[in-house]
Amino acid sequence: MGKAGKVETLLAQAGHYLDRETGSVVPPIQPSTTFARDEQGNLYDENRIYARDHSINAEMAEVILNELEGGASCKLFASGMAAATALVQTLRPGERIVAPKIMYWSLRAWLITYCEDWNVELAFYDPCDEEDMISVVKSASTQMLWVETPANPTWEVVDIAKAAELAHSVGAQLVVDSTVSTPLLTKPIELGADYVFHSATKYINGHSDVVAGAVITAKEDMRWERLCKVRAQQGGILGTFESWLLLRGMRTMHIRVERACENAMRIAQHFEGLAGVVEVLYPGLTSHPNHEIAVKQMSGGFGGMLSIRFVGGRNNTAKVMGRMKRFVRATSLGGVESLVEHRALVEGENSPVPDDLLRFSIGIENVDDLIEDIEQALRG
Ligand SMILES: *Cc1c(COP(=O)(O)O)cnc(C)c1O
Repeated sequence: MGKAGKVETLLAQAGHYLDRETGSVVPPIQPSTTFARDEQGNLYDENRIYARDHSINAEMAEVILNELEGGASCKLFASGMAAATALVQTLRPGERIVAPKIMYWSLRAWLITYCEDWNVELAFYDPCDEEDMISVVKSASTQMLWVETPANPTWEVVDIAKAAELAHSVGAQLVVDSTVSTPLLTKPIELGADYVFHSATKYINGHSDVVAGAVITAKEDMRWERLCKVRAQQGGILGTFESWLLLRGMRTMHIRVERACENAMRIAQHFEGLAGVVEVLYPGLTSHPNHEIAVKQMSGGFGGMLSIRFVGGRNNTAKVMGRMKRFVRATSLGGVESLVEHRALVEGENSPVPDDLLRFSIGIENVDDLIEDIEQALRG
């Protein structure tokens, strides 16, 4: 039996952290930006020279995330966007990335201009249509296939094993944005993914007080080396205090995610088919078009994210949102407090999101309080 134990033990004990010198059960914050050499010029610790590449606090969280994902290595970044863009920056001019039409809004916007500026070919596939993904990937030489599952904000679930097979059949690599699924519900590397990406701002930290990103790799390959260089040289590292906070947040991740999943399932079931509701989008519902894939590749729950479409179009939906008293009207997701957002309003005119849709990030509150809040908002 390993000391670190199963997932819950690993997280709760922060990798069985114990300071042998002082007996402290919580790791200290080590803010030193530089690491000294002895009289002979040898480093005290040969792995540490300068904090842009060697952060003790970041490494503690990286080791645990890597273990959760079953990877070969993990790197934390200053944000999810810093991590995702670093990964795309490992592509060379003339290479090709294939990404979903429905994906994290800011990353999609960045991809469009970056790929244009740097001559990386960008093609989009429909994540609801397996055949479309196959034909787009096969239509030209492709190096990177990007999958986001479940995908913002309609929660399409993509079959990771099939996507990995497809990518590998054409010599491409698969990246999975697993932010919504968390490192606990889905194991993309086990399913064949080459890289797993997380906005650690969300469930990994879980308290809406740290912005961070993570990439975990299945192998320390050429692209991984490039990614490490991008981080070390461009400097998009996670700060010491943020790394420390992240590790602290991670210690309760399993409990938070479990409760968020339970609450989301209850809310989804409660509002499906109710008067005033057009549709509830949640991968845990049997009515969800990708429910079977979700059952196959998510275990322990279907996540804490769901969307509800309301009757009465954009205006009525905005009013429903305005009447909510317990849900906080804010962007982001994965925190302990529940949030609601009108995505079409936030994304603006070119948004592909239906304008009668509210996106809910379900937290860990009492679920009856949350149901009651949506109900009173619906009644008006
Ligand atoms: C938030 C988010 C990102 C971007 O991460 P930041 O930490 O905000 O930079 C990327 N993908 C998904 C699915 C997200 O929810």
